[in-house]
Amino acid sequence: MDMPVSSPTESPNDALICRDPATGEVYGEAPIMDQAAVDAAVARARKAQVAWGQTSFAERRAVLRDLLDRILADQEAISRAACRDSGKTPVDAAMGEIFPVCEKLRYTIRYGERDLSPSPRRSGFLLHKSARVEYTPLGVVGVIAPWNFPFHNLLCPLVPALFAGNAVVTKVSELATWSSLGYLELLRDVLRGRGHDPELVQVVTGYGATGQALIRSGVEKIFFTGSPENGRRVMATAAEGLVPVVLELGGKDPMIICDDADLDQAADAAMLGVFTACGQMCVGAERLYVFDAVYDDFVAKVRRRVEALRQGPPLRGEFDVGAMTMPRQLDIIQGLVDDAVAKGAQLLTGGRRNPDLPQGTYYEPTVLAEVDHRMRITQEEQFGPVMVLIRVRDEAEAVRLANDCPYGLGSSVFTRDRQRADRIAAQIDAGMTVVNDYGLAYMMQDLPFGGVKISGVGKINGREGLRACCNAKAVVRDRLPIRKGIALYPVREATEPLVNEAIRAIYSRGPIAKAKAAFGVARALVELARG
Ligand code: NAD
Repeated sequence: MDMPVSSPTESPNDALICRDPATGEVYGEAPIMDQAAVDAAVARARKAQVAWGQTSFAERRAVLRDLLDRILADQEAISRAACRDSGKTPVDAAMGEIFPVCEKLRYTIRYGERDLSPSPRRSGFLLHKSARVEYTPLGVVGVIAPWNFPFHNLLCPLVPALFAGNAVVTKVSELATWSSLGYLELLRDVLRGRGHDPELVQVVTGYGATGQALIRSGVEKIFFTGSPENGRRVMATAAEGLVPVVLELGGKDPMIICDDADLDQAADAAMLGVFTACGQMCVGAERLYVFDAVYDDFVAKVRRRVEALRQGPPLRGEFDVGAMTMPRQLDIIQGLVDDAVAKGAQLLTGGRRNPDLPQGTYYEPTVLAEVDHRMRITQEEQFGPVMVLIRVRDEAEAVRLANDCPYGLGSSVFTRDRQRADRIAAQIDAGMTVVNDYGLAYMMQDLPFGGVKISGVGKINGREGLRACCNAKAVVRDRLPIRKGIALYPVREATEPLVNEAIRAIYSRGPIAKAKAAFGVARALVELARG
């Protein structure tokens, strides 16, 4: 039987089959949940949220701290479950699954209350009132997650949503189901340990149709992470019920390597950006723009590094690169590589399914040089272990080509010149730019994360991400106890002049005009008082 693939169509079978992409081994099944099953999960979550929404930040922090302790205690087991579902290596799992989740927990424990405490605002000319924003829970937050980082994709939206007082129902990917069900038990154990209802977190399983059911289940908001194509479908269904959405879609991040860059530093960063998790990252460095003056040196450096990579089943030995999670991704990558080679790109190494590892879904670590923008691989997300090297004349060409792409998620630039770095960073159309490094913006949880163009709508992480899990409620209170309001009704002759003069008194330029208008206000008030 074929691996279940990401698709909105139903499987012909009545269960999801969980399979290790690195070995082909089948190790479990999970239900394909329909609308009724999803609705029931949302109802259980909603019931549990009533008490959770009343808890203090201190109580929520205690849960998150327990969760962090539990993750540290079970780190290896969590990593290995993620490797089994996704085919990545334990080092990639530690770096991409565990590390960012721990950092998100640390950030939320340390700063979550600061970010969600009522925020005073100016009351304008209404000096007798005070104004503030209160961040109240939404209710039940729905998350639709992809497969590339099973633990991270489940936990990262869940942590801020829970801290903000919500229940969370996550539709996990059909390719990350087995590990996610294990992680759910871990989460529920932690909640139980603090006396909270474990039904507060729910995992629903199935294909795209189950995701659609979650959007239609009455949840207050949807956080979707996945492809732009499915992001459009999610937004269309959400529009029917006016369900707000945050969409974290794909990326095709440019990395610009200037002629004054430290080439070893840039080469190491490029290796991380291209080969972490076999390139299956939304912020993968999919396009490397290298200045002509250093192009040949840089290519020689990365070629050596790539040729030394060892690929194999990550849980059966020490390897640098694992398998691709999704079998059909191999065909997508091959199509892009073949198109580039046909149009003149140089294949320096790799470029095919690994013939030594037929049992799993392995694509060889690949280097493509002399790529140009006629080739599809500069425009379409490849999500694979292919380093794409584009020669550029100068800064202007690098920026122009970096922006010549429908995606706009992350980006990076390598140069020793700070002014040049700032100049280039300011011109790149992206949600994030990192200077002289790869991907660090994600590890700084105080920063918002999210893309422009077809890379997404809205932000996660930072105070923006926490507040996206809330209703930002405007509350106006008494500053001075003035009990007499302005009675406009019944409207009389002096009523309109009163309002007009009040507007002039507040907004006119200069003290004379203001004083004149204030006199008009007084006159109108006297007339109204006379009846
Ligand atoms: P995908 O869009 O195929 O699936 C994502 C999730 O959506 C899965 O749970 C899937 O079952 C569900 N889904 C599929 N069709 C749906 C529909 N019509 N309605 C509702 N739900 C539906 O994505 P994927 O293949 O799992 O993940 C890879 C994509 O995700 C890439 O494009 C990648 O760049 C992107 N991604 C983005 C980020 C980010 O933060 N920007 C992070 C990781 C992955």
